[in-house]
Amino acid sequence: SFPAEVVPQAPEDPLFGLMRAYKADSSPDKVDLGIGAYRDDNAKPWVLPVVKKADEILRSDPEANHEYLPIAGLASLTSKAAELLLGNSAPAIAEKRTASVQTISGTGAVHLGALFLAKFYKIQGANRTVYVSNPTWANHHQIFTNVGLPIATYPYFNKETKGLDFDGMKKALGSAPDGSIILLHACAHNPTGVDPTPEQWREIASLMKEKKHFPFFDTAYQGFASGDLDRDAGPIRFFVEQGFELVIAQSFAKNFGLYGERAGCFHYVAAPSSNAAEITTRVASQLAILQRSEISNPPIYGARIASIVLNDPALFAEWQENLRTMSGRIIDMRNKLRGKLEELGTPGEWNHITDQIGMFSFTGLSEAQVLKLRTDYHIYMTKNGRISMAGLNSRNVDYVATAVDKVVR
Ligand code: PMP
Repeated sequence: SFPAEVVPQAPEDPLFGLMRAYKADSSPDKVDLGIGAYRDDNAKPWVLPVVKKADEILRSDPEANHEYLPIAGLASLTSKAAELLLGNSAPAIAEKRTASVQTISGTGAVHLGALFLAKFYKIQGANRTVYVSNPTWANHHQIFTNVGLPIATYPYFNKETKGLDFDGMKKALGSAPDGSIILLHACAHNPTGVDPTPEQWREIASLMKEKKHFPFFDTAYQGFASGDLDRDAGPIRFFVEQGFELVIAQSFAKNFGLYGERAGCFHYVAAPSSNAAEITTRVASQLAILQRSEISNPPIYGARIASIVLNDPALFAEWQENLRTMSGRIIDMRNKLRGKLEELGTPGEWNHITDQIGMFSFTGLSEAQVLKLRTDYHIYMTKNGRISMAGLNSRNVDYVATAVDKVVR
């Protein structure tokens, strides 16, 4: 029989453990700044109005059924998903240099990309280590190591400035062996909320080109960083224009509020060349084999919702409006939190709260301060001091600022 006695107890996932502790807390003052899911000003999950509309369209379709999707997913979604990232008139799409597969949200997309690289990233002498930012979304570590690709980190967050450690990042990318796989957050970096500027992206691209590094973009917050879908896709579009061969993991969890529906895509983009379309066809055929053995075919419900919105100009415009509502409320909360801390004269500088963007802010609070906030004030955040800005609202922001003020003093 299977000797299961040797299986050790694994630790609970820290983020989901935090969510459980929050739920069990009976204090009326409790505040959830842990999980990265959007909340409205009443601290409630927000079903995007445009998603409600798409849902009604879907439900009233007499032809709708529960059949399987093709292995690569819903084509009306994957084609629009690629356009959303690369632009409607992207040469890479016109030249058939893109292969897109619908995945189990962003996590599944990162995993499929990792599996694909584990199987095929075998250029002569190339380094198979995946370089991720320090810090990064914790799941990156286990997703890549699970498929046998080792992880190394490049400096990213400067603790002094609470901004980008650009020199450290460049030095690490410059000294990584040529042809290394570099994981990049396209926008709204998780957990820090710190993104390179357009000028810094240009430097990163030119350095990576010189080093023949392979870009692996993870984009889970398009439209959340600036509120503008095109602007948030800027770094990806720039790299594609520079002629990189690259891959992209794309999540629709946050920007559509389709968290539990697991809608996302994985994209491969070939470098421009005379046989790029042929290479892309072969890549797509291998992605299909991997997908078939892993999940057979992806879930249909969230894919249909996103597809309805992406394929209808009026609904698309409404989606952009919904995105501005979410990103606007988050920016408002950044201003209020910083304003209150400054009004209280809380020791330290708090400009990083409004300098950082996207769903998260890396506050700079120590682990001890984070624990004190939890035990004394029922405020929950990850122990690295990351807060989900969406957990703040007009009723709790002063309470949170006052509590932070007390634990910092
Ligand atoms: N990448 C990053 C950087 C993320 O923050 C997330 C969401 N926490 C994901 C990928 C994937 O999330 P999901 O699988 O829910 O789409």
